Amino acid sequence: MDFLGRQRRLQAALRERRLDALLVTHLPNIHYLCGFTGSAGALWVTFSGCVFFTDGRYAEQAQAEVQGARVVILRRAFLPSIGEWVARKQRGKTLTTAGVEGEHLSMAASRRLSRAVSGKCRLRDCSGIVEQARLIKDADEIQLIRQAIEVGASLFDDALAVLRPGLPELEVASAIESAARRAGAEAMSFETIVAAGARSALPHGRASQALIPSSGFVVCDFGVILHGYCSDRTRTVWVGSETGEARRVYAAVLEAQLAAIAVVGPGVALGKVDQTARNTLKKQGLDKYFTHSTGHGVGLEVHEAPRVAKGQEELLQPGTVITIEPGVYLSGQWGVRIEDMVLVTEKGCEVLSPGNKEFRAI
Ligand code: ZN
Ligand code: ZN
Repeated sequence: MDFLGRQRRLQAALRERRLDALLVTHLPNIHYLCGFTGSAGALWVTFSGCVFFTDGRYAEQAQAEVQGARVVILRRAFLPSIGEWVARKQRGKTLTTAGVEGEHLSMAASRRLSRAVSGKCRLRDCSGIVEQARLIKDADEIQLIRQAIEVGASLFDDALAVLRPGLPELEVASAIESAARRAGAEAMSFETIVAAGARSALPHGRASQALIPSSGFVVCDFGVILHGYCSDRTRTVWVGSETGEARRVYAAVLEAQLAAIAVVGPGVALGKVDQTARNTLKKQGLDKYFTHSTGHGVGLEVHEAPRVAKGQEELLQPGTVITIEPGVYLSGQWGVRIEDMVLVTEKGCEVLSPGNKEFRAI
């Protein structure tokens, strides 16, 4: 991974914003900038270099993982110690303006930090600088995302192998998750969704004790984290004897998903992708049952920038990885969602998620 290149580009972004430093506290951003994968850390980025702070639990891991930054092990309360460290370095120098990631700092934490820098450094909320850089994946990242998607998609076969009426949703989730571990996944990228029958109408129906009914849709939405990168894919299958209505709704969701994918490309507004999915469902009178946005970015986090949502004017850029996941949810009856991950290329897009998505009854 090109950590030094990322740090250099971040320094240029700081210069543009007239910042002398940035304190990065959001762990995925720290991972992105210097490679640290532990759960406690902060990265102080300046023009003269980067300093990575962590506590004693991660001393060894930090030495092994962190690239392009000096490692400092803190022995006392985290943010006040960083603030005091900054204040010490600033002694006798002109006032520094440092950015902080306000979206990832509680009010209490930023108060503690401000108190500790004690007038030696002015703090400004600069949320989103690193996220903006993470929007465009480099070749190494795309390679890792492909691997995560491949493992994630293969788990659907493990779900199908056990899925049958009368089985609790959690049993299906458990088959998926243990197969994920065996395949080398570090974790699931979010809580596995197996939502059957009337529960499939819940867009985020986490697997529960509910039993798979004798007929109805089952929404399976899950992903893995492999080498730090996430996958996210949804397949919906029908159990029992199918109905014409189930097929009609499924076909409409699939048509909406394919239509939205067909417009993905560089320079296309995210809102247009979302609108395309909605317009396609509208032809069947189903748009009012599509109650969430069409997709989201995926990378080190399963939900990251950009949002593929209504009215988003931001334009897609090559190297961005997004999901396209329209759904229709008929409360009390059932729901359907189909989700794939898509890479924006120089000319259009590439669907990264493999696998059949035609209507399937089991
Ligand atoms: Zn998903
Ligand atoms: Zn998703």
